[in-house]
Amino acid sequence: MTDCIFCKIVKGEISGNIVHRDEQVTAFRDINPSAPTHILIVPNKHVDSVNMLIADDEPLIGHMFTTAKNIAAQEGIAESGYRLIMNTNADGGQTVFHIHLHLLGGAPMKYPMG
Ligand code: 5GP
Ligand code: ZN
Repeated sequence: MTDCIFCKIVKGEISGNIVHRDEQVTAFRDINPSAPTHILIVPNKHVDSVNMLIADDEPLIGHMFTTAKNIAAQEGIAESGYRLIMNTNADGGQTVFHIHLHLLGGAPMKYPMG
């Protein structure tokens, strides 16, 4: 996906405020944060949306969650709490079509959403 903004951040072709990188995922601060801590955890490989996931991706998705947990601890929000969100397509509010897990915290989140 040559024109995917998150692929470009993963490859280092454009700058991102990266907080974590490993063989499977990259995590960086959201450019337009919705909370005091707003970090996106993305797979290094391009996947359009949750609709495109296959069974072989299950370890990758699990790794995205354990990475989010570790970053929450690094950011000092593990105990106060946080929210993990993955939006899908128009009704889900997805605007970037490279799957990403939002890690939001640092203030009480509103609920219910929608
Ligand atoms: P979505 O609406 O697809 O669930 O979330 C996309 C998120 O990506 C938004 O919160 C938006 O602010 C963020 N975003 C869009 N473009 C960029 C970018 O170029 N860099 C970074 N760091 N975040 C971006
Ligand atoms: Zn991509």
